[in-house]
Amino acid sequence: MTPPQRGVDVVVIGDGPAGSALASSCVARGIDVVLVGPDERWSATYSTWVDDLDGVEAVGADVQSLLGEQVSTIAVFTAEPVSLHRPYGIFDNSTLRSRLRDGVDHVTAKVVAVRSPRGERHTVVLVDGSELRARLVIDTSGWPSKFARLREGAPPAWQTAMGVVLAEPPPGDLGRATLMDFRPVKGTGGDDRRSSVGPTGVTTFCYTLPVRDGWLVEETVLAARPAIEPIALLPRLAARLGRHPDDVLADAIRTEYVRIPLGGARPVLDQPVVAFGAAAGYVHAATGFSVASSLRAAPRVADAVVAALGSSPSESPVDSSVVAESVWPIEFRRSRLLHDYGLELLLRLDDDGIRAFFGAFFSLPVDQWSSYMRIDTPPSDVAGVMTKLFRSSSWSMRRRLMSGNPTTFARLLRP
Ligand SMILES: Cc1cc2nc3c(=O)[nH]c(=O)nc-3n(C[C@H](O)[C@H](O)[C@H](O)COP(=O)(O)OP(=O)(O)OC[C@H]3O[C@@H](n4cnc5c(N)ncnc54)[C@H](O)[C@@H]3O)c2cc1C
Repeated sequence: MTPPQRGVDVVVIGDGPAGSALASSCVARGIDVVLVGPDERWSATYSTWVDDLDGVEAVGADVQSLLGEQVSTIAVFTAEPVSLHRPYGIFDNSTLRSRLRDGVDHVTAKVVAVRSPRGERHTVVLVDGSELRARLVIDTSGWPSKFARLREGAPPAWQTAMGVVLAEPPPGDLGRATLMDFRPVKGTGGDDRRSSVGPTGVTTFCYTLPVRDGWLVEETVLAARPAIEPIALLPRLAARLGRHPDDVLADAIRTEYVRIPLGGARPVLDQPVVAFGAAAGYVHAATGFSVASSLRAAPRVADAVVAALGSSPSESPVDSSVVAESVWPIEFRRSRLLHDYGLELLLRLDDDGIRAFFGAFFSLPVDQWSSYMRIDTPPSDVAGVMTKLFRSSSWSMRRRLMSGNPTTFARLLRP
C-alpha cells in the first residue's frame, strides 16, 4: 500500500529555535514550507546579548517582549573584576517559540529518513510512515546533523555545566549577575590560584543570573575535549556556595545539566540536504551560543531559498548548494577558522592563562569583544581582535599563542 504522501516546496526538519526561525522567515516570503518536529519543550535557559537581536526579522521592533529577565551590566571576574556594560537577557522560551511558529505549518512528528534520488524530489519519511515530497530539505535537528553530512575534522570540544536554580540570590558576589567568575574555589588545601575541589586540573567559571523562577548558579567548563560530565562539577559548585552537595540539591528549585558542542563540524557544502542552526555547526566555538545567530541568519537563508526555488522548474528539486552557501557564506567560513583556532588555544591554557586571556579580552572596547562573539562577523574584524589580543599579551602568553601552529595563525590573521 502506498503511504500517505503530501507535496510541498520546502521541508524544515527540527522544530528548535533554528528550524522555527527559518520556517518563519520562509513563511514571511510566501514559501510553501512545512516545519517537522516532535514539539518538545524548549527547556534550556537561552541567553543572549540584547544587541545581538538588533534588526532581527523574526523579532521585529519589540525585542523586549521576547526576553524574560534582563540585566544592563554583567560582571566578569578574572584577575580584576570587570563590569560589562552591555545588556544581557534570557529568552522567554514560550514567547519566542510562539512568535517563531506564528503562521507556520507545523507537522508534529519525528523524521526517520530522507531519500534524495538524483533529479527527483526528496522524500521525507515520518515516524508514522507517511511521507512528505519536497523540492528542498533543510535539516535543523541539532548537532550533529541527522540528515546532512558533516565535514571531517577534529571532534568538538564540549562546554558542560551543572546549574541549580535557587529561590533567592546567594549573599555576596554569587548574588550578582556574572558572565564568568574564574576565581578558584578552595576546598581543603590546594594552592591559591587553582581550584582544589572538583575535577583536577579543569578550569571552570561560575555563571550567575536571575531567571524566571529564581536565581541560576552554574559551574561551567568553558571547553574540554573530551567532555567533563556535568555532574562532576557539583562538588565545586557546592564549595563555591559554601554548602554540602546534598544540601545544594535539596534546596534547588530545579537543576540544569548542560552539554554544548563547541566548534562542531560544519556540513559539506555540496550534498542534497542543507543543514542549518546547531546542525550546521552554528554554535560559537568560544561562547556555546547559537540562538541569536540562527535568528539573524534565517532571513538570509530564506532569501536564498526563494532564489533557488525560482531558478528551477516548479516540480523539480532545487540546487541545494545555493542555499548551503547562504548558511555559511565564504567570509563567515573564514571567521569560523579563526574561531576554531581560538578554541584550540583556549584548550591549551591553564588556569592562569585563561584568566589572563579573558582579562585582556574584556579590556578591549566592547564593540570589539562583542564582534568576536558572533559567528557572522567579517574575518578581518575577528582577525583584528586576535591581533590586538596578541599585541596586548605578555611574552609568555604570546609564546602559548604561537605554540599551536604559528604558520596557520599568521596565515589566518592575514586580511
Ligand atoms: C542546556 C543548554 C543551554 C544552552 N544555552 C544557550 C544560550 O544561553 N544561548 C545560546 O545562544 N545557545 C545556548 N545553547 C546552545 C544552542 O544554541 C542550543 O543547543 C540551541 O537549542 C540550538 O538550537 P537549534 O534549533 O539549532 O537545535 P535544537 O535546539 O537542538 O533543536 C533541534 C530540534 O530538532 C528536533 N529533532 C531532532 N531530531 C529530529 C528528527 N529526527 N525529526 C524531527 N525533529 C527532530 C528536536 O526535537 C529539536 O526540537 C544551549 C544548549 C544547551 C544544551
